[in-house]
Amino acid sequence: MGFCFWGDFLKERGNKRMSGAQRQSRFERGEEVVVMKFGGTSVEDAAALKRLIGIVESRWGAHPVIVVSALAKVTDQLLEAGKAAATGHLGAALALVRNIYVRHEELADSLLGASAYGSLDRELRNEFQSLESLLLALETSRHFDLKAQDHLLSFGECFSSKLVSWVLSEAGLQAAHVDARQSIVTDARHGQATPVWDVTNQRLRDAVNPLLQSGSIPVMGGFIASSQNGVPTTLGRGGSDFSAAIVGAAIGALRIEIWTDVDGVMTTDPQLCSDARVIRKLSFDEAADMAYFGAKVLHPATVAPAMRENIPVYVLNSRRPEGHGTEITARASTGNRVSAITAKRNVVSVEIQSRNGVDAAFLNTVFGVLEQHTCAVDVMGTSVDRISLLVASSDALPRIVEDLQPLAEVRWENHKALICLVGENIRRQPEVASRVFATVADMDVRVLCQGASERTLSFLVDESKAEESVRRLHSAFFPKVEPALDWGGISSAFCQAG
Ligand code: ASP
Ligand code: MG
Repeated sequence: MGFCFWGDFLKERGNKRMSGAQRQSRFERGEEVVVMKFGGTSVEDAAALKRLIGIVESRWGAHPVIVVSALAKVTDQLLEAGKAAATGHLGAALALVRNIYVRHEELADSLLGASAYGSLDRELRNEFQSLESLLLALETSRHFDLKAQDHLLSFGECFSSKLVSWVLSEAGLQAAHVDARQSIVTDARHGQATPVWDVTNQRLRDAVNPLLQSGSIPVMGGFIASSQNGVPTTLGRGGSDFSAAIVGAAIGALRIEIWTDVDGVMTTDPQLCSDARVIRKLSFDEAADMAYFGAKVLHPATVAPAMRENIPVYVLNSRRPEGHGTEITARASTGNRVSAITAKRNVVSVEIQSRNGVDAAFLNTVFGVLEQHTCAVDVMGTSVDRISLLVASSDALPRIVEDLQPLAEVRWENHKALICLVGENIRRQPEVASRVFATVADMDVRVLCQGASERTLSFLVDESKAEESVRRLHSAFFPKVEPALDWGGISSAFCQAG
């Protein structure tokens, strides 16, 4: 899209401008604040940024607060640059970050007028200088720990949020950049920090509310924060969703919108099953279970602050903003049903057979050993003489076998997949379990767990069978045409959803 189109676009936007005073009055009446988070692909290039302007403008009366990820791929590239610098390849590291700079600069050039471009470019150059100094320091020290990594990665969201803020302002949307590193305060657990809630809530309110009151649109980077000593931290990969929920909870937003590049949360991974469709409504609990069991749509912790404050979360497609997306609320209204089918690959199934039966002391010892080797356990079943576990990696298992040798025999199998059905009250519906059995009867299904929660039913198959089991279950529980019979309480919501 050339410059001409952009000029026309701006003119058209300009005509629709609403005065600050009009918005201010709404905010003061406490009507609405909406947090809108845009993921990396929703800010990745000029076309994406133009769509973003249109979407933000469509929420203009609702007092939007914008949270953005780094431009798609930037976080990975920064990480690569850090590793390169710390292993002595400074040239490669600098080339990577210079490409990142050029990418932002070209976007600024194509979307901003001369004066805004000049201001942003000055800001970007300063940040890039700090970034280059950091890489130099990494090259000298040859030490790239999580603290340095957080510092390095924080530049991605810093650049994107400044860019988006200028781009919105240039489109007449009066945006104001808020530095997330000053507003979200965390512990010092680098790589996966947790907010210090009271300080964070207060700082966010202090930074965001006056801007809303003055009719501005606050724009901040997701994922990044800083510790109480002011050292940069991050909330874990994919953490921008979490940032959006933190902001939403702090300022009492009416809704949180997660703008991404898919139509919403899907009934299953569309790469496994082309019939996957959008789930219209989901509960927070179902969403958390889905994330836990391998669905990749939401950062699992995302739902926590939103859930605590009972703020609905919408997952929407920035490439198709007119779609209805998925609404995630405390209580999904459609009642008993199967909402989604997930597959967690690369699971290791472990069986620990006790030499003297399973009792409390035995369990205690086993879990002590697992903890000692930081081996995270997924699902568990016990019987008279054995414990069945699922773990994500077999790395620690040889050492665990050795430690448990006097007490038990340990066997494991790699390359398993955990298939899971998620839905409110699934466990209270025996017909769902029997339907599952019937659907995969001819497969070597290992452990069938009615889940630790009321909402899940899961089983283990060979990884090579993951795709087929998901497809079969999907066509059984989400038939293409509306079934004459309401199988297992499946509501027609699924049929409308596609
Ligand atoms: N940019 C960060 C990442 O790639 C955070 C995010 O996108 O949510 O993990
Ligand atoms: Mg993301």
